[in-house]
Amino acid sequence: MPAPTYCGRFAPSPTGPLHLGSAYTALASWLLARQAGGQWLIRIEDLDPPREVAGASAAQLAALQRLGLTSDMPVLRQSQRYHAYQAALDQLLASGQAFACHCSRSDLAESGGVHRDCTAKRQRPTPAIRFRVRDAEVIVLHDAIQGEYRQSLAETTGDFVLRRADGLWAYQLAVVVDDAAQGITDIVRGSDLLDSTPRQIALQRALGLPTPSYAHVPVLLGADGQKLSKSAHSDGIDNGDPVRVLSRLWGLLGQSQPLPNSAPDVSTWLAAAVAAFRPEALPHRTAIAFESMHT
Ligand code: GLU
Repeated sequence: MPAPTYCGRFAPSPTGPLHLGSAYTALASWLLARQAGGQWLIRIEDLDPPREVAGASAAQLAALQRLGLTSDMPVLRQSQRYHAYQAALDQLLASGQAFACHCSRSDLAESGGVHRDCTAKRQRPTPAIRFRVRDAEVIVLHDAIQGEYRQSLAETTGDFVLRRADGLWAYQLAVVVDDAAQGITDIVRGSDLLDSTPRQIALQRALGLPTPSYAHVPVLLGADGQKLSKSAHSDGIDNGDPVRVLSRLWGLLGQSQPLPNSAPDVSTWLAAAVAAFRPEALPHRTAIAFESMHT
């Protein structure tokens, strides 16, 4: 069988404006997809209405468009995908790989944070649903940037939540279901998600889904040493000249080959970037300190 064609994606949660750290990840993922002659998709991960900021997804899509980073397929929204998450959950429940958990916060506190099985003293009307991890299994991941990463889920995450008691779907389940449904072959995202990946690989195996390749790029740290984040109100990039923003990101992607920092438009700049991009120069680090856009 021929290998599936490369398909990458960028999957922001709509919790604030697109900041330079998310634009960094989006550009890395886009360049790798384009250089491989592949597709690139955008998915809005709007699973958590209480954390959502009104207008954020439209603002993020507009900011990506200004950078020339647009989805090859209609943008998928996780809020439209609950039926697919339910089908995956039903499959895991039917095969005994997931279970209803009636534990309260105090029951969970007794297990010291790493929860196994349901030890509730009382039944709840709407239990959480958890994934049953295997006792001795160590998941090994070969990340293209961070190298080998291994994790025993039984020791680090325990039986993790797939659907919360309040009915919200967990990111871990939704991301696995959607990456498979969209035919994603290569996941490029921030290193802060490296430790979620073994849970996602365990779910892929339990659901009989393929495991994509992973590349976790560094996260950008602001002047305070903290990761730039949408919810911490890091500056959006909406007002910068887009070619200047892209040029700044180019250097942070470890690319020293000169590219014009003024180009007639973003598509001219991006076409030159695809031709010049050297994936092997991406920084093999978990974080990079970023100073201001104005330096
Ligand atoms: N939605 C996540 C975020 O905005 C990214 C998830 C992923 O790339 O797997 O941080």
